[in-house]
Amino acid sequence: MSTLDRFRNPAYTGESRCWPCTVVNVVLVGGVVAGVALLDYPVVAAAVGLVGLLAIWARGYVVPYTPRFAPPLVAALPLPGDPFHADGGAEVPAEDGSLGSDEIDGETVLTRLVEVGVVVPEGEDLMLSEEFHAAWHDRMEQHQDDSAEELAAVVRDLLPDASVSVEDGARGPYVVVSAGDTASLSDAWLTRPVAIAEVAAVEALADTGLDEQTRLAAAEPLRTFLDVCPDCGGAVEVTTTVECCGGSAGATDPDEVLACTECDTRLFTFPG
Ligand SMILES: [Zn+2]
Repeated sequence: MSTLDRFRNPAYTGESRCWPCTVVNVVLVGGVVAGVALLDYPVVAAAVGLVGLLAIWARGYVVPYTPRFAPPLVAALPLPGDPFHADGGAEVPAEDGSLGSDEIDGETVLTRLVEVGVVVPEGEDLMLSEEFHAAWHDRMEQHQDDSAEELAAVVRDLLPDASVSVEDGARGPYVVVSAGDTASLSDAWLTRPVAIAEVAAVEALADTGLDEQTRLAAAEPLRTFLDVCPDCGGAVEVTTTVECCGGSAGATDPDEVLACTECDTRLFTFPG
């Protein structure tokens, strides 16, 4: 381990960097540098600036207790939206949406999936049957190149009573399934990977004899079985919203999620 590695603080740097902490610290270091420079110590000012910025780069922050006060401080500023995670686009719900309604509970859905052999118990675990795994992945591949509009059209066929639209969020397009005429934050907002996974799951379940409502309800729990990203094919991992999906190290009470390591999209949110 090099001296630099020992000095580095991985909890607040790299992918976990807390941007409010970084910005607040750069501003504070800038203030100290300006103060020292005003006292006519230019060399000291330059040294303070250099050491301060190096520390912020390597450790995430230099002012003690920054992770405690910087995120709420920045959140309290009258800034439009969240400047650290958004770059335009509609405000989107924090959770991943699903095609299924909550009318059938998860346990009932899982029981039915086991009954028809889509999910098979293996020791303590549940696995997808080889047959369903292949059918689902075939379908996902077929939808991989679909545009958001094409995915919305498939969803419209599956849910003829819902109003389905495409909305642009800061992190890409969403297929939005609305109860009303216009998209609202309480509707189901499906990212591309989620939309691909769910329409492919409902289609692949067509041969199982399950009724349509169960097939739609199964789309969300089946996402826990994803082993590659349905959109970009990247590896998936269980992580938290602090590490992925546009989250920030300042977040309190992050969700545990299954996420794509390539496109940084949340594929499933585990119940907290
Ligand atoms: Zn991906």
